[in-house]
Amino acid sequence: MDWEPVIGLEVHAQLKTDTKIFCGCSTRFGAPPNTHVCPVCLGLPGVLPVLNRKVVEFTIRMGLATHCRIERESRFARKNYFYPDLPKGYQISQYELPIATQGFVTIQTDNGPQRIGITRIHMEEDAGKLSHAPDRGVSLVDFNRTGVPLMEIVSEPDLRSPKAAGAYLRQLRAIVRYLGICDGNLEEGSFRCDANVSIRPRGSTELGTRTELKNLNSFKFVEKALQYEILRQQEVLADGGEVVQETRLFDAGTQRTHSMRGKEEAHDYRYFPDPDLLPLVIEKEWVEAVSASLPELPEQRRQRFEKDLGLPPYDAELLTSTKEVADYFEECLGHGAQPKAASNWIMGPLMGLLNARGATADASPVPAKALAELLRLIDDGRISGKIGKTVFEEMAASGKPPEAIVEEKGLVQVSDTASIEAVVDKILQRHPQEVEAYRGGKTKLFGFFMGQVMKETRGKANPKTVSEVLNKRL
Ligand code: ADP
Ligand code: MG
Ligand code: ZN
Repeated sequence: MDWEPVIGLEVHAQLKTDTKIFCGCSTRFGAPPNTHVCPVCLGLPGVLPVLNRKVVEFTIRMGLATHCRIERESRFARKNYFYPDLPKGYQISQYELPIATQGFVTIQTDNGPQRIGITRIHMEEDAGKLSHAPDRGVSLVDFNRTGVPLMEIVSEPDLRSPKAAGAYLRQLRAIVRYLGICDGNLEEGSFRCDANVSIRPRGSTELGTRTELKNLNSFKFVEKALQYEILRQQEVLADGGEVVQETRLFDAGTQRTHSMRGKEEAHDYRYFPDPDLLPLVIEKEWVEAVSASLPELPEQRRQRFEKDLGLPPYDAELLTSTKEVADYFEECLGHGAQPKAASNWIMGPLMGLLNARGATADASPVPAKALAELLRLIDDGRISGKIGKTVFEEMAASGKPPEAIVEEKGLVQVSDTASIEAVVDKILQRHPQEVEAYRGGKTKLFGFFMGQVMKETRGKANPKTVSEVLNKRL
């Protein structure tokens, strides 16, 4: 049987507001436990929640960036469950009437661009954080995170492979970062993903029974967990069994998923409109103002890099994957660099350097202006591309401008024919047998002579001139 995987993701993004969603407590991470709390977020009796306007604005931003309808009226609802990290015994979320609906994002797949539907985006509050100390026989709870604003983005079951799920997730993360509304860190939990997956015979239009995967705190784990789960479901069905709808936990150690609990249904949560919060009504003018303030988004930028700057699709995709890199690239162009040359140097040496240092492009040890100057030196034929790599390393190490390094180390490319001729003659005299063999038809030796000349000049000779002179002399 040829099975087709069907995947839908639920993503929780922590919004980068200064204060919590329904009270004035700070959202700052890393404070001593239970210091950013008040009667509202602790769920003490006799207090009322007040909605943070910024949370609404950020969610409108996301809704617009993903082509959603921004609903004029939405409602907050109580999602009831009992857990020690939830002091009120319910989470304030949105249920029947979310703020944004029916959007999409575009991802790049092996078969070209694909639209992934966004079912809904809603606002909700985060829960507290439990930590367990089994040696002391206690569990500890920190309520600092209780009431920190989250935005939940639910996709349609439109994804067809673990790789596509990864691409979708990367695209969403790029969007929230471009918008400046979430720092998008899976490892630290400010951007979390639950993956729903089922399989069905290819060609079928019905959905199979799904499982929901949790504990996916890196892009790699999302893809690994889905791969494992797709194979597991195939085996269950091949053995004549049935997939049970349930929540499964991914174990990064074994790279497997295991059953955590039966899937709860919506009615288990006894959702009802929160009587403490009025319906949220958003005026058209506000949506228009937010819309006018949106920055250029990754997808638009990718298209512009391809169409207007003539970059290959691969380059455009990679350069726009983070705003910092895309800004860096454009800053290089602003200083006169050619698009493709700048792209090559950014995708190669610069990204290598940033990865090694764990730095982002906006804090690059080699600033965009300096890289542009280096590219100019190469473009003008003052140094070779190969020497350029050496200069780049020196720039990264010392922070000196390329011009100074080239002067200091005497790296200027030698292009004048007379001095190159002198070196070529010397090399040919030194290797009479090879010259003989070359003239006898062993033309492969050309590379050997090139290498000798470059070595003799410590890489400074202009390869084009060397090749011309060699041809003439040989
Ligand atoms: P719940 O809120 O109970 O988790 P939803 O109906 O809101 O359920 O769906 C959650 C996610 O599961 C959505 O992203 C949706 O696309 C996805 N999904 C729903 N049905 C399936 C299915 N049969 N196979 C794969 N994904 C699915
Ligand atoms: Mg769910
Ligand atoms: Zn509070």
